[in-house]
Amino acid sequence: MKALVDLQKCTACGVCQDVCPVGAITVSETHAVVSDDCTLCGMCVDTCEFQAITLPEVGSGAPTDAASYRGVWAFAEWRHGRVHAVSYELLSAARRLADKKGVSCAAVLLGENLRDRASELLRYGADVVYVVDHPALRHFTDEAYSRCLVELVRRHKPEILLAGATSIGRSFIPRVAAMLQTGLTADCTDLDISDEGLLLQTRPAFGGNVMATIICPYGRPQMATVRPRVMRPVLDPRNGRVESVTLPEEVFRTRVQVLQVIPEEDTTAKLSEAEVIISGGRGLQKAENFRMVEELARLFKGAVGASRSVVEEGWVPVSHQVGQTGQTVSPTLYMAIGISGAIQHIVGMQGSKIVVAVNKDPEAPIFDVASCGVVADLFEFVPAFIERIRRGES
Ligand SMILES: Cc1cc2nc3c(=O)[nH]c(=O)nc-3n(C[C@H](O)[C@H](O)[C@H](O)COP(=O)(O)OP(=O)(O)OC[C@H]3O[C@@H](n4cnc5c(N)ncnc54)[C@H](O)[C@@H]3O)c2cc1C
Repeated sequence: MKALVDLQKCTACGVCQDVCPVGAITVSETHAVVSDDCTLCGMCVDTCEFQAITLPEVGSGAPTDAASYRGVWAFAEWRHGRVHAVSYELLSAARRLADKKGVSCAAVLLGENLRDRASELLRYGADVVYVVDHPALRHFTDEAYSRCLVELVRRHKPEILLAGATSIGRSFIPRVAAMLQTGLTADCTDLDISDEGLLLQTRPAFGGNVMATIICPYGRPQMATVRPRVMRPVLDPRNGRVESVTLPEEVFRTRVQVLQVIPEEDTTAKLSEAEVIISGGRGLQKAENFRMVEELARLFKGAVGASRSVVEEGWVPVSHQVGQTGQTVSPTLYMAIGISGAIQHIVGMQGSKIVVAVNKDPEAPIFDVASCGVVADLFEFVPAFIERIRRGES
């Protein structure tokens, strides 16, 4: 389905072409032409002063040809010349779901100069890895990546498509869902298959107070994103195959060209992959005091985390935020200093193996998830603790 142009009313003024966020409209000499890339967002409808564009009536929710969709896919993320760790986590989840349904499992890898990287994905349960290797995919762009993935989905029709809730996944996966006119559940914490064979997509809802399980009974594929380190990667080597896919050149056509990528310090990756995280909360009172947390993290060779309050105060960038609207982490050691333990924070760190909490309030909810609780004034405890570590005392 796509937006409809009334040729009697259209004046070929070109305004719709300018506002279309996915570049789905071109204008001929006489009228606007809408391509299959249309996501039915309605921007063109709202801006057309001649009321020449309308959206088609959406049906009553009748299923698409669901039976013709088969198999579970994981989108494998290619970043800075390597496959991102989340890809293996997703692939293991996809394998588990595929086994439960008795269907095949595939990974999709997009990038440039991928060489033998795809075969590594076969060790994590893929029956097939679809590889698109093209210069236009050297750097991530929403347009090229979404068109490639959509094209592959249209060709092979997987019933389930999983992707990482990373900066890349969050950027283009909603666009893919819109182009395929299917549903997407973001930031899932659990995935399963229902008795009817549907994907059960569980995620925190209502500020983290309930866990909602969402299904997508009509649209295909059923799409979900999962944050890094929520699922566990499981080695499961298969006699799978790597399939190199050639797509039409227009798929790679983009309106933006990335000239250069200047990497910033990737604190996000550090946080999600860290074995030790020292996190600070509003109990630290001001930005200067947060330096204690950073010092402790340095001594432990760990990463710095923070509650949302601290981020909102502007003491640290949002890339350090742990929780529902920040990073999900699962280090071996998570130390929470002056953090109350609101549910929105807990959902982001409850997968940690050992949690040490420092709080002066013995009733603070953080102690409910702590393996070791220190009821103390942090301004007394933390400097003394740092001093003892520096002196090499245990
Ligand atoms: C939709 C939504 C999403 C959210 N997402 C997130 C998220 O992703 N991550 C997140 O963290 N929050 C999130 N929040 C906010 C969350 O609800 C809390 O407000 C926040 O986590 C509180 O941060 P805090 O623990 O640092 O501050 P506070 O709740 O103010 O707690 C400060 C703690 O420090 C202790 N303290 C104070 N002084 C001392 C001292 N001298 N010594 C020792 N202890 C001391 C206090 O006893 C208290 O327990 C979200 C909220 C909403 C509504």
